[in-house]
Amino acid sequence: MRAAGAAAADTAAAGRAFSIPMRTRFRGVTSREGLLVRGPAGWGEFSPFAEYPPRECARWWAACREAAEDGWPEPVRDRVPVNVTVPAVGPQDAARIVAEGGCATAKVKVAERGQDAGEDIARVEAVRDAIGPAGRVRIDANGAWDVDTAVRRLGELRRFDLEYVEQPCPTLEELAQVRRRTDVPVAADESIRRAEDPLKVRAAGAADIVVLKVQPLGGVRSALRVAEACGLPVVVSSAVETSVGLAAGVALAAALPELPYACGLATMRLLRADVAADPLLPVDGHLPVRAAEVDEERLAAVEIDPGPWRARMAAARAQWRG
Ligand SMILES: [Mg+2]
Repeated sequence: MRAAGAAAADTAAAGRAFSIPMRTRFRGVTSREGLLVRGPAGWGEFSPFAEYPPRECARWWAACREAAEDGWPEPVRDRVPVNVTVPAVGPQDAARIVAEGGCATAKVKVAERGQDAGEDIARVEAVRDAIGPAGRVRIDANGAWDVDTAVRRLGELRRFDLEYVEQPCPTLEELAQVRRRTDVPVAADESIRRAEDPLKVRAAGAADIVVLKVQPLGGVRSALRVAEACGLPVVVSSAVETSVGLAAGVALAAALPELPYACGLATMRLLRADVAADPLLPVDGHLPVRAAEVDEERLAAVEIDPGPWRARMAAARAQWRG
């Protein structure tokens, strides 16, 4: 692997760093930053969150390296269904977001700090009305409930015909308890941050569905292996990347043998700008399966000093134990 490692080092040394403001705060950050590298197979994105140490960033590096050096496995579909995401807004805004999104599946944020059960009900009801009886509605609590609260809230919300609830509680034990006490399927998202986590989720009986992201799992091939080993249905989600990073998520969704659920990859609009000439935006509720080509002018508009990011990538690469 010496040759591949050397090639990866060369591409990293030429990496271009970006900083793009977000439309709304996400994970406590107001902008997304990362490094873009160009290799023989195309562009790769390395954009771990600021607090992640090099050991954790190693998998994000591996995903970037795969995109730039190897490319992705053959797709089995040419477009990927995606969901529109409804943040913790009022019912009128929620209905408008669903109508504008043009997707057959909506993911609704619930359990927002400072809001009450009535606000969740009003929002989910508005989304169900807007998307119609044939549409699918899933909710995401981001681990904010305890078991009793989750069971009670799901009891109130299940009449809106929920596809599933994403991460109702923080721990695997709690997810497993919720799962035994409700008929709403449970999806694990925050519980999965590394390759071994989906297997733990399955062993704990904690979820019916797993949410997988390409960068934290170390690339498309690695995520495919995780999906196969886990054996649960997969929802591919983004880490709020530029179109370059989103294309890797699309490649995973496109290569999965089964894709029973819409994916959380329609996140381009969460960023105020993109680096691609042709951003990965949904058309008729689907993203096309294709790579993203960086546009020099667009990248220049959001480019920052690459020094710190090149150093971060080098530290991540040094930790890779693939
Ligand atoms: Mg989630």
